[in-house]
Amino acid sequence: MEKISIIVPCYNEQESIKLFFEEAERVKNQDFQYEEFEYIFVDDGSKDNTLQKIKELANAHENVRYISFSRNFGKESAMLAGLDEATGDYITLMDADLQDPPSLLKKMFDMIKQEGYDCIATRRINRKGEPPIRSFFAKCFYKLINHISDVEMVDGARDFRLMTKQMVENIKSMREYNRFSKGLFSFVGFKTKWIEYENVERVAGKTKWSFWKLFKYAIEGITAFSTAPLIFSSFLGLLFCLVSFLMILFIIVKTLIFGDPTSGWPSLACIIVFVSGVQLFSLGIIGQYLSKTYLEVKHRPKYIIKEKK
Ligand code: UDP
Ligand code: MG
Repeated sequence: MEKISIIVPCYNEQESIKLFFEEAERVKNQDFQYEEFEYIFVDDGSKDNTLQKIKELANAHENVRYISFSRNFGKESAMLAGLDEATGDYITLMDADLQDPPSLLKKMFDMIKQEGYDCIATRRINRKGEPPIRSFFAKCFYKLINHISDVEMVDGARDFRLMTKQMVENIKSMREYNRFSKGLFSFVGFKTKWIEYENVERVAGKTKWSFWKLFKYAIEGITAFSTAPLIFSSFLGLLFCLVSFLMILFIIVKTLIFGDPTSGWPSLACIIVFVSGVQLFSLGIIGQYLSKTYLEVKHRPKYIIKEKK
């Protein structure tokens, strides 16, 4: 019998857990007579009763397991922990809030089995129910990253995907600290098919992503999958050398022809402020990469498990 592992990262999802499980079980009984399901709930240091709700399920059902972190490590760590624990032949990552409809699983599973794909990934074709400003910045991010990175990132891609064990093994082999899964999935390659669905709003609770958190996550994605900003700052440096060279020439010629009246300090002040701005900006870019490297070389654990079943 083949086994499908369902990994569910949960952070303060006390209202959703049971709803999610019921819906997934409904799909299981309806569409998966010959397969076995394994649930791995990852409690990412929730502050509400999430862990208790998960334990209730785990006690009642043999095939429900859980991992509980010692604190909140973020969704990326929760997903990795789930992948590390999964024992299934096929593995899927799903949000607890039912924004990733379990009803799609059958279709995805059949595609892998019959059409020979290694991975079926999902993307939402609209961003209904999301603040327009967030959608706008998300669009900008995907435009930018696809320009400056070799790894393709699909706009609207969810983390919801069904993968073969082989693909998951390869994802797990990348033990980087700064994880940006959308890029890692793409990086490992394998035959991936994208299916699309309309955005579904969460069943209960509210989103865990503030604008600031998303912004930091975007920076993570850029530094993890592109060195273009570094090239950009080198380019700026070169450009400024060139400009200064032209200015020197201009001033020498001007002084030789018209003499040397001491004026022009306001323009000088502007230039100094502008150029130091550019310098700080470039230093900031280098600092970003350096700080990521710093975190990598420390080899800290990506998550700490407090208890599990
Ligand atoms: N999540 C998590 N750790 C976090 C933040 C979120 O495990 O630090 C989980 C959350 O419980 C949910 C999933 O990641 O199951 C997606 O989060 P959310 O629904 O808030 O994100 P959105 O769907 O709004 O992008
Ligand atoms: Mg969600």
